[in-house]
Amino acid sequence: MNFGIVGGGLAGLTAAYELGKEGHKVSVFEKEAELGGQAATFMVAGERLEVFYHHIFASDVDIISLINELGLGEKLMWLDSRVGFFHQGKIYDFVTPIDLMRFSPIGLVDRLRLGLISLYLRWYKNWPKMEGTTAKEWLLRYGGRRNYEVVWGPLLKNKFGASSDEVSMVWFWGKIHLRFTSRQQGKERLGYMSGSFGTLVDALKERIIDCGGQIHTSSPVSTIIVEEGKAIGLRVGEQTYPFDAIIATVPSPAFLDMVPQLPAGYAQKLERVRYQMAVCLVLILKRPLSHIYWLNVSDPSIPFVVVIEHTNFVDPSIYDGKRIIYISNYVSKDSPLGSLDADELLIEYMPHLRKINPEFDPACIEERYLFREEAGQPIITTHYSSRVPDHRTPISHLYLANTTQIYPEDRGMNYSVRLGRKTAKMVSSGSAMFP
Ligand SMILES: Cc1cc2nc3c(=O)[nH]c(=O)nc-3n(C[C@H](O)[C@H](O)[C@H](O)COP(=O)(O)OP(=O)(O)OC[C@H]3O[C@@H](n4cnc5c(N)ncnc54)[C@H](O)[C@@H]3O)c2cc1C
Repeated sequence: MNFGIVGGGLAGLTAAYELGKEGHKVSVFEKEAELGGQAATFMVAGERLEVFYHHIFASDVDIISLINELGLGEKLMWLDSRVGFFHQGKIYDFVTPIDLMRFSPIGLVDRLRLGLISLYLRWYKNWPKMEGTTAKEWLLRYGGRRNYEVVWGPLLKNKFGASSDEVSMVWFWGKIHLRFTSRQQGKERLGYMSGSFGTLVDALKERIIDCGGQIHTSSPVSTIIVEEGKAIGLRVGEQTYPFDAIIATVPSPAFLDMVPQLPAGYAQKLERVRYQMAVCLVLILKRPLSHIYWLNVSDPSIPFVVVIEHTNFVDPSIYDGKRIIYISNYVSKDSPLGSLDADELLIEYMPHLRKINPEFDPACIEERYLFREEAGQPIITTHYSSRVPDHRTPISHLYLANTTQIYPEDRGMNYSVRLGRKTAKMVSSGSAMFP
């Protein structure tokens, strides 16, 4: 059989790899010049670096098994991570129970409550019971107002901005439940690949080609060709490519544009899930900003929500001793921050970097880059299970595998690998019945 895959991120590449292994002919179409999607990389000091910060958790079994299957197990490093909280001018370490006990912005009783709730969510499994409750309602009820205002509220605002009050408790449960699997004996260890996650993308590309597959980059698909309710091919520019079946791994708005024939019920499901845009300013510095890898910013006067200092996680010697920080925001499409260029954003952020480190000197900035992703984070609202679109679309021989279909876990590379594997299996077993 001959299959077309739209999108060269981890979901699309994994699906193509799985189908190629089974002896099918596959062609991947990626609109950008490089593969990798949200996990794409660029060069810093002669090394590859993700355009958006990336690590994996110990619970990310699908991507770990893929890395091992591709013979890259030795490249996967488990490194200590330092998480911190910036609140009222001070950085607090925030990983171990002792850190929590020392977290003075909240009183002792609230600290105990915070710890007990985190433990409870770590072991709690019956997430469907939380489907009708927003994270805000649940956390205020069980954690109290102070914990919500200082810790959890800012974390939710960080990701979902003005939509944070609508976010389902299931999303929050998934975050805490999975994150804690990476914490043991008072430490958090996170996974990163030597040479970046681009190493995984390269290996997938190589295997797809070894199996006879084709990869077309700089090839935006404009149309999925549908005849008599069946997908029969793709259009890229002036060219058409016939296929027996198609898997699309693009965000829902792009998919809707490609297939205007989608029946109203399915199309409405796609339209109803909104995304937050990820806006990430990457600074290459001569000196470190702080000692923390993942710094949550709990300060409404600061216009960014997390600072990820990659070189407090991965050894800076890899990048010629340069220090790398990502200043991250998730905003709605109409937010003014979404349209600023790198220099404008830097001017906006600079005074606030000095709040984190008063000795921070703009002269230590060597390079700056700005990356945006419109479909950075699907907004997971209550009763989300009823909103998830099926992988089998109502158009025969057409499948969808995108991040809005990841649930109850939060989207991440692991789950895109899982989506790729799952839809490849569906297409491959479905193909036995194709006319
Ligand atoms: C700021 C940020 C930080 C993140 N951090 C982490 C992390 O630490 N750990 C983790 O596991 N995950 C992280 N993620 C999430 C992770 O990167 C994604 O969940 C995963 O890479 C998504 O893969 P995908 O293949 O499903 O989608 P995508 O990567 O979005 O791939 C879809 C592809 O389709 C292409 N495309 C779109 N339209 C067309 C078209 N018309 N024709 C052809 N191609 C098209 C796109 O260019 C893209 O390459 C992060 C994401 C962001 C935004």
